[in-house]
Amino acid sequence: MAPSDMARLDGQAALVTGASSGIGRASALALAAAGASVAVNYRGKSEEADAVVAQIEADGGRAVAVQADVSKEDEVAAMFAEAETVLGPLEIVISNAGIQKDASIGDMTLDDWNAVVSVNLTGGFLVGREAIRRFRAKGRRPEISRAAGKLVFDSSVHQVIPWAFHVNYAAAKGGLHMLMQSLAQEVSQEGIRVNSVAPGAIATAINAGERDEHKADMLKLIPYGRIGEPDDIGRIVAWLVSDAADYIVGQTIFADGGMTLYPGFRGNG
Ligand code: NAD
Repeated sequence: MAPSDMARLDGQAALVTGASSGIGRASALALAAAGASVAVNYRGKSEEADAVVAQIEADGGRAVAVQADVSKEDEVAAMFAEAETVLGPLEIVISNAGIQKDASIGDMTLDDWNAVVSVNLTGGFLVGREAIRRFRAKGRRPEISRAAGKLVFDSSVHQVIPWAFHVNYAAAKGGLHMLMQSLAQEVSQEGIRVNSVAPGAIATAINAGERDEHKADMLKLIPYGRIGEPDDIGRIVAWLVSDAADYIVGQTIFADGGMTLYPGFRGNG
Protein backbone atom coordinates (compact mmCIF):
# COMPACT_ATOMS: atom_id res chain seq x y z
CA MET A 1 0.00 0.00 0.00
CA ALA A 2 1.40 3.43 -0.95
CA PRO A 3 1.86 5.79 2.02
CA SER A 4 -0.86 8.13 0.70
CA ASP A 5 -3.31 5.21 0.52
CA MET A 6 -2.64 4.44 4.16
CA ALA A 7 -4.36 7.69 5.13
CA ARG A 8 -7.55 6.66 3.32
CA LEU A 9 -10.58 5.37 5.21
CA ASP A 10 -12.59 3.86 2.35
CA GLY A 11 -15.10 1.24 3.42
CA GLN A 12 -14.93 2.26 7.09
CA ALA A 13 -17.89 3.49 9.15
CA ALA A 14 -17.31 6.20 11.74
CA LEU A 15 -19.34 7.77 14.56
CA VAL A 16 -18.54 11.29 15.79
CA THR A 17 -20.27 12.66 18.90
CA GLY A 18 -21.12 16.35 19.11
CA ALA A 19 -20.61 16.50 15.35
CA SER A 20 -23.07 19.24 14.42
CA SER A 21 -20.60 22.05 15.22
CA GLY A 22 -16.99 23.02 15.77
CA ILE A 23 -14.31 20.34 16.05
CA GLY A 24 -16.80 17.46 15.80
CA ARG A 25 -18.20 18.85 12.56
CA ALA A 26 -14.70 19.35 11.13
CA SER A 27 -13.77 15.80 12.17
CA ALA A 28 -16.88 14.35 10.50
CA LEU A 29 -16.08 16.23 7.27
CA ALA A 30 -12.40 15.19 7.34
CA LEU A 31 -13.30 11.53 7.94
CA ALA A 32 -15.79 11.65 5.05
CA ALA A 33 -13.21 13.34 2.79
CA ALA A 34 -10.87 10.42 3.53
CA GLY A 35 -13.58 7.97 2.42
CA ALA A 36 -15.38 6.97 5.64
CA SER A 37 -19.15 6.94 6.02
CA VAL A 38 -20.10 8.99 9.07
CA ALA A 39 -22.78 8.97 11.77
CA VAL A 40 -23.15 12.61 12.84
CA ASN A 41 -24.30 12.73 16.47
CA TYR A 42 -26.17 15.72 17.84
CA ARG A 43 -27.90 16.33 21.17
CA GLY A 44 -30.70 18.80 20.52
CA LYS A 45 -32.00 20.29 17.30
CA SER A 46 -31.33 18.30 14.16
CA GLU A 47 -30.87 21.19 11.67
CA GLU A 48 -27.10 21.61 12.10
CA ALA A 49 -26.47 17.85 11.99
CA ASP A 50 -28.66 17.57 8.87
CA ALA A 51 -26.54 20.31 7.28
CA VAL A 52 -23.35 18.34 7.99
CA VAL A 53 -24.95 15.21 6.49
CA ALA A 54 -26.05 17.22 3.43
CA GLN A 55 -22.53 18.61 2.96
CA ILE A 56 -20.99 15.12 3.11
CA GLU A 57 -23.57 13.79 0.65
CA ALA A 58 -23.04 16.75 -1.69
CA ASP A 59 -19.34 15.84 -1.75
CA GLY A 60 -20.25 12.27 -2.75
CA GLY A 61 -20.01 10.70 0.71
CA ARG A 62 -22.42 8.82 2.97
CA ALA A 63 -23.68 10.05 6.33
CA VAL A 64 -26.57 9.88 8.77
CA ALA A 65 -27.60 12.12 11.67
CA VAL A 66 -28.10 10.32 15.01
CA GLN A 67 -29.55 11.97 18.10
CA ALA A 68 -28.27 11.18 21.61
CA ASP A 69 -27.21 12.84 24.82
CA VAL A 70 -23.81 11.21 25.45
CA SER A 71 -24.28 11.41 29.22
CA LYS A 72 -27.31 9.06 29.05
CA GLU A 73 -26.52 5.35 28.99
CA ASP A 74 -29.65 4.24 27.11
CA GLU A 75 -29.32 7.01 24.51
CA VAL A 76 -25.67 6.10 23.82
CA ALA A 77 -26.59 2.44 23.25
CA ALA A 78 -29.46 3.43 20.94
CA MET A 79 -27.17 5.82 19.01
CA PHE A 80 -24.63 3.07 18.29
CA ALA A 81 -27.40 0.66 17.26
CA GLU A 82 -28.89 3.22 14.88
CA ALA A 83 -25.51 4.12 13.38
CA GLU A 84 -24.63 0.47 12.75
CA THR A 85 -28.07 -0.33 11.33
CA VAL A 86 -27.57 2.36 8.68
CA LEU A 87 -23.80 2.28 8.07
CA GLY A 88 -22.73 -1.21 9.15
CA PRO A 89 -20.17 -2.12 11.84
CA LEU A 90 -18.19 0.85 13.13
CA GLU A 91 -14.40 0.91 12.70
CA ILE A 92 -13.94 4.46 14.05
CA VAL A 93 -15.46 6.28 17.04
CA ILE A 94 -14.63 9.89 17.92
CA SER A 95 -15.80 10.89 21.42
CA ASN A 96 -15.83 14.64 20.95
CA ALA A 97 -18.93 16.10 22.68
CA GLY A 98 -18.04 18.53 25.44
CA ILE A 99 -19.28 21.57 27.31
CA GLN A 100 -17.96 24.31 29.60
CA LYS A 101 -19.75 25.85 32.59
CA ASP A 102 -17.24 28.31 33.99
CA ALA A 103 -17.33 29.87 37.46
CA SER A 104 -14.99 30.81 40.27
CA ILE A 105 -14.83 28.09 42.89
CA GLY A 106 -17.00 29.97 45.39
CA ASP A 107 -19.74 30.37 42.80
CA MET A 108 -19.54 27.02 41.07
CA THR A 109 -22.72 25.07 41.75
CA LEU A 110 -22.94 21.31 42.05
CA ASP A 111 -25.06 21.45 38.88
CA ASP A 112 -22.20 23.24 37.06
CA TRP A 113 -19.81 20.52 38.23
CA ASN A 114 -22.11 17.60 37.45
CA ALA A 115 -23.07 18.92 34.01
CA VAL A 116 -19.46 19.19 32.83
CA VAL A 117 -18.29 15.92 34.37
CA SER A 118 -21.30 14.01 33.04
CA VAL A 119 -20.77 15.12 29.42
CA ASN A 120 -16.97 15.46 29.25
CA LEU A 121 -15.96 12.46 31.37
CA THR A 122 -18.94 10.13 31.92
CA GLY A 123 -19.88 10.70 28.26
CA GLY A 124 -16.38 9.57 27.29
CA PHE A 125 -16.77 6.45 29.42
CA LEU A 126 -20.19 5.56 27.99
CA VAL A 127 -19.17 6.19 24.36
CA GLY A 128 -15.80 4.48 24.84
CA ARG A 129 -17.34 1.41 26.49
CA GLU A 130 -19.93 1.00 23.74
CA ALA A 131 -17.24 1.50 21.08
CA ILE A 132 -15.10 -1.29 22.58
CA ARG A 133 -18.10 -3.63 22.81
CA ARG A 134 -18.94 -2.99 19.15
CA PHE A 135 -15.30 -3.35 17.98
CA ARG A 136 -15.09 -6.70 19.78
CA ALA A 137 -18.35 -7.93 18.25
CA LYS A 138 -17.14 -6.89 14.77
CA GLY A 139 -13.64 -8.34 15.04
CA ARG A 140 -10.69 -7.49 12.85
CA ARG A 141 -11.25 -6.83 9.14
CA PRO A 142 -7.69 -6.58 7.78
CA GLU A 143 -8.88 -5.87 4.26
CA ILE A 144 -10.35 -2.60 5.59
CA SER A 145 -8.06 -1.57 8.45
CA ARG A 146 -5.07 -2.96 10.32
CA ALA A 147 -6.65 -2.26 13.73
CA ALA A 148 -9.75 -3.97 15.08
CA GLY A 149 -11.15 -0.53 15.94
CA LYS A 150 -10.01 3.03 16.54
CA LEU A 151 -11.30 5.20 19.38
CA VAL A 152 -10.24 8.84 19.77
CA PHE A 153 -11.17 11.16 22.63
CA ASP A 154 -11.22 14.91 22.16
CA SER A 155 -9.43 15.97 25.27
CA SER A 156 -7.77 19.38 25.82
CA VAL A 157 -4.50 21.00 26.80
CA HIS A 158 -6.28 21.28 30.14
CA GLN A 159 -5.69 17.59 30.76
CA VAL A 160 -2.25 18.87 31.84
CA ILE A 161 -2.51 22.69 32.16
CA PRO A 162 -4.35 23.73 35.35
CA TRP A 163 -7.23 26.15 34.62
CA ALA A 164 -8.44 28.48 37.35
CA PHE A 165 -12.16 29.33 37.20
CA HIS A 166 -12.74 26.16 35.14
CA VAL A 167 -12.02 23.46 37.72
CA ASN A 168 -14.91 21.28 36.53
CA TYR A 169 -13.60 21.30 32.95
CA ALA A 170 -9.94 20.73 33.85
CA ALA A 171 -10.83 17.94 36.28
CA ALA A 172 -12.98 16.23 33.63
CA LYS A 173 -10.26 16.47 30.96
CA GLY A 174 -7.61 15.28 33.43
CA GLY A 175 -9.84 12.29 34.16
CA LEU A 176 -10.34 11.71 30.46
CA HIS A 177 -6.56 11.43 30.08
CA MET A 178 -6.37 8.50 32.53
CA LEU A 179 -9.55 7.00 31.08
CA MET A 180 -7.88 6.98 27.65
CA GLN A 181 -4.57 5.54 28.86
CA SER A 182 -6.13 2.90 31.12
CA LEU A 183 -8.52 1.85 28.37
CA ALA A 184 -5.66 1.66 25.86
CA GLN A 185 -3.69 -0.51 28.30
CA GLU A 186 -6.73 -2.78 28.70
CA VAL A 187 -7.68 -3.32 25.05
CA SER A 188 -4.64 -2.72 22.84
CA GLN A 189 -3.70 -6.42 22.84
CA GLU A 190 -7.02 -6.98 21.04
CA GLY A 191 -5.81 -4.75 18.22
CA ILE A 192 -7.96 -1.82 19.32
CA ARG A 193 -6.24 1.58 19.23
CA VAL A 194 -7.30 4.20 21.78
CA ASN A 195 -5.80 7.70 21.65
CA SER A 196 -6.63 11.34 22.37
CA VAL A 197 -6.28 14.64 20.58
CA ALA A 198 -5.67 17.58 22.90
CA PRO A 199 -6.48 20.89 21.21
CA GLY A 200 -5.33 24.27 22.48
CA ALA A 201 -7.49 27.30 21.63
CA ILE A 202 -9.66 26.52 18.59
CA ALA A 203 -12.19 29.01 17.20
CA THR A 204 -15.54 27.36 18.02
CA ALA A 205 -18.76 28.18 19.88
CA ILE A 206 -17.42 26.72 23.15
CA ASN A 207 -15.02 29.67 23.64
CA ALA A 208 -16.66 32.41 21.54
CA GLY A 209 -17.10 34.69 24.56
CA GLU A 210 -13.51 34.23 25.79
CA ARG A 211 -12.14 34.86 22.30
CA ASP A 212 -14.12 38.09 21.89
CA GLU A 213 -13.04 39.47 25.26
CA HIS A 214 -9.49 38.14 25.63
CA LYS A 215 -8.11 37.49 22.13
CA ALA A 216 -4.83 39.38 22.73
CA ASP A 217 -4.26 37.56 26.05
CA MET A 218 -5.01 34.21 24.38
CA LEU A 219 -2.49 34.89 21.61
CA LYS A 220 0.22 35.52 24.21
CA LEU A 221 -0.25 31.87 25.23
CA ILE A 222 0.23 30.58 21.66
CA PRO A 223 3.83 30.87 20.39
CA TYR A 224 2.79 29.86 16.89
CA GLY A 225 0.80 33.10 16.73
CA ARG A 226 -2.70 32.10 15.72
CA ILE A 227 -5.84 30.65 17.21
CA GLY A 228 -6.55 27.22 15.73
CA GLU A 229 -9.33 26.37 13.31
CA PRO A 230 -11.60 23.31 13.64
CA ASP A 231 -10.01 21.88 10.48
CA ASP A 232 -6.61 21.85 12.24
CA ILE A 233 -8.06 19.20 14.55
CA GLY A 234 -10.27 17.44 11.98
CA ARG A 235 -7.27 16.65 9.80
CA ILE A 236 -5.37 15.17 12.76
CA VAL A 237 -8.34 13.04 13.83
CA ALA A 238 -8.73 11.60 10.30
CA TRP A 239 -5.01 10.78 10.14
CA LEU A 240 -4.89 9.34 13.67
CA VAL A 241 -7.59 6.75 12.91
CA SER A 242 -5.99 5.75 9.60
CA ASP A 243 -3.45 2.98 9.00
CA ALA A 244 -0.84 5.73 8.50
CA ALA A 245 -0.95 6.13 12.31
CA ASP A 246 -1.33 2.40 13.04
CA TYR A 247 1.51 2.27 15.58
CA ILE A 248 0.17 5.12 17.73
CA VAL A 249 -1.45 3.53 20.78
CA GLY A 250 -2.46 5.16 24.07
CA GLN A 251 -1.07 8.60 23.16
CA THR A 252 -2.27 12.16 23.31
CA ILE A 253 -1.52 14.29 20.24
CA PHE A 254 -1.32 17.90 21.43
CA ALA A 255 -2.42 20.34 18.70
CA ASP A 256 -2.05 23.69 20.39
CA GLY A 257 0.28 26.00 18.47
CA GLY A 258 2.83 25.45 21.23
CA MET A 259 0.62 26.32 24.21
CA THR A 260 2.05 23.43 26.23
CA LEU A 261 5.52 24.96 25.78
CA TYR A 262 4.43 27.41 28.52
CA PRO A 263 5.62 30.46 26.50
CA GLY A 264 5.35 32.74 29.54
CA PHE A 265 8.67 31.24 30.70
CA ARG A 266 10.49 32.36 27.51
CA GLY A 267 13.28 34.74 28.45
CA ASN A 268 12.49 34.57 32.14
CA GLY A 269 14.54 31.48 33.04
P1 NAD B 1 -18.72 23.13 20.26
O1 NAD B 1 -19.54 23.74 21.33
O2 NAD B 1 -18.85 23.67 18.87
O3 NAD B 1 -18.96 21.56 20.15
C1 NAD B 1 -19.39 20.77 21.22
C2 NAD B 1 -20.46 19.85 20.67
O4 NAD B 1 -20.84 18.91 21.68
C3 NAD B 1 -21.71 20.62 20.26
O5 NAD B 1 -22.11 20.19 18.97
C4 NAD B 1 -22.74 20.21 21.30
O6 NAD B 1 -24.07 20.18 20.81
C5 NAD B 1 -22.25 18.81 21.64
N1 NAD B 1 -22.75 18.34 22.93
C6 NAD B 1 -22.73 19.00 24.10
N2 NAD B 1 -23.29 18.24 25.06
C7 NAD B 1 -23.66 17.09 24.47
C8 NAD B 1 -24.29 15.91 24.93
N3 NAD B 1 -24.66 15.77 26.21
N4 NAD B 1 -24.52 14.91 24.04
C9 NAD B 1 -24.16 15.04 22.74
N5 NAD B 1 -23.57 16.13 22.25
C10 NAD B 1 -23.32 17.15 23.11
O7 NAD B 1 -17.22 23.23 20.76
P2 NAD B 1 -15.88 22.50 20.27
O8 NAD B 1 -14.78 23.42 20.59
O9 NAD B 1 -16.02 21.99 18.89
O10 NAD B 1 -15.78 21.27 21.29
C11 NAD B 1 -15.55 19.94 20.88
C12 NAD B 1 -14.63 19.23 21.88
O11 NAD B 1 -13.34 19.83 21.79
C13 NAD B 1 -15.07 19.35 23.34
O12 NAD B 1 -14.85 18.12 23.99
C14 NAD B 1 -14.13 20.41 23.87
O13 NAD B 1 -13.93 20.27 25.25
C15 NAD B 1 -12.87 20.11 23.10
N6 NAD B 1 -11.90 21.20 23.05
C16 NAD B 1 -12.19 22.39 22.45
C17 NAD B 1 -11.23 23.40 22.45
C18 NAD B 1 -11.47 24.73 21.81
O14 NAD B 1 -10.64 25.64 21.99
N7 NAD B 1 -12.53 24.91 21.05
C19 NAD B 1 -10.00 23.20 23.08
C20 NAD B 1 -9.75 21.97 23.68
C21 NAD B 1 -10.70 20.99 23.66
